[in-house]
Amino acid sequence: MKKLFLLPICMLSMHAFAQQVLNFPQERRLGCATELGKYMPNQQKVDTTTTRGMADNYLLWDNGETLLIKFMPGGSPTLRSKVMQYAKEWEKYANLTLKFVEDNYAGNTNIRIKLGTGEGHYSKLGTNSNLVPQSQHTLSLDTIDFVDLKYYQQDANNGGPVITALRSRGARLDQVKTWLDYLYLVAQIQPLRWNEDELRGTTQHEIGHAIGLMHEQSYPGAIKWNKADSVYAWYKKTQGWERSDVDYQVFRVNDQFYSNGTAYDPRSIMQYPIASWQTMDGFSVPGNNLISEGDKRIISALYPKGKAVSDKEVPRINISNLKPLMVSADNTRGGFSIVPSFDLKTNSKLGKVYFVARVYSVENDRLYAVTTQSETYNIGGICGAAYLMNLQPNSNVSYNKGTRNMELFIPFSAIPAVGDKQVAIIFDVFLIDNNNGNMSKQMYSSVSNKLSMPRK
Ligand SMILES: [Zn+2]
Repeated sequence: MKKLFLLPICMLSMHAFAQQVLNFPQERRLGCATELGKYMPNQQKVDTTTTRGMADNYLLWDNGETLLIKFMPGGSPTLRSKVMQYAKEWEKYANLTLKFVEDNYAGNTNIRIKLGTGEGHYSKLGTNSNLVPQSQHTLSLDTIDFVDLKYYQQDANNGGPVITALRSRGARLDQVKTWLDYLYLVAQIQPLRWNEDELRGTTQHEIGHAIGLMHEQSYPGAIKWNKADSVYAWYKKTQGWERSDVDYQVFRVNDQFYSNGTAYDPRSIMQYPIASWQTMDGFSVPGNNLISEGDKRIISALYPKGKAVSDKEVPRINISNLKPLMVSADNTRGGFSIVPSFDLKTNSKLGKVYFVARVYSVENDRLYAVTTQSETYNIGGICGAAYLMNLQPNSNVSYNKGTRNMELFIPFSAIPAVGDKQVAIIFDVFLIDNNNGNMSKQMYSSVSNKLSMPRK
């Protein structure tokens, strides 16, 4: 969208103009925000992803699967075809088909790419993309980072063809304050010129997340971060991240399990660039814009060609086609009736899941602790209800689609006195993997509308 300028007009020389627009931030794709990124729709209330790693085996797609990918409205045909080309490079190493469908494709898609400006780069991790409503994107690419700024800087400095063309058409260059505004003018007269390295690197990094890869800097022991205020301040300045974002996106360390037996790979496309002043030992990593040999090895181990199932396979569940969480106050039975609706698919390994509903205080912004010693309606000290499901391998079950086949119920009497204050119900699905030290993975989390407790 074009911006309106209310600033006083000042005439600038060509050089001064280039200098002025040069002030646009130059540090790019330093971070992309996965999962809990502030722009991500369906933000999870509870972060249990701290044990998630370089590749999250629990969020992988089926080996050999065809993923349907769609562009959200926006992005020129040239830009789209480049993104498509770079994304599909993963197909050489992963036994996955990345199939781009037309904009008017009416069926469900797995990954939806938004090409735009102002939101940064991010993607849902692996099958978590299925949790995003079909009307929303699952992956964002901020196209401002892909423009060949060097070319336009030189052109502006040297009175090159682009700025000459703009001047001859009477463009109001005196009113241009940022690169974005300048590029908007350029885009009016010709397709933008792209920086292929940035475009390829960022696209492949984000698609890497979409097929289950996590940041390589989260490899245990890989980076001795200097967690000084200056580092936090730098991420605030360049990415707009709060301290908690930096802790999550940059400093987080994952369990060794998720390395899938690989060694730390500083050349990984999933590694952030790191400046030496940000580490205790002066370690640094340049920006990587190519899928590394290490990336090729891990992705082909996770999605092997010529093999039905990866050796790294864990029990996986895939939740999709969610409807908004239905919770109602049932005054006849005296409690909250929780009726979640979704499809749940399992892979070839048998898994167990817990469906958990917990009571959350809207006013106090916290879960309700139980006040009795009773085991019933006590979920690890939090007031709620749960039940355990043993799932058959290779099954596909629909919950509460047409027929009501699953309900969690929490009696009002089990909820500590809250007077007439509002509560909400948080519904989670946890996968229990008995083969991996009873690992518990939160696969889904949803918060109900605000509910009122009946007056006593
Ligand atoms: Zn990332």
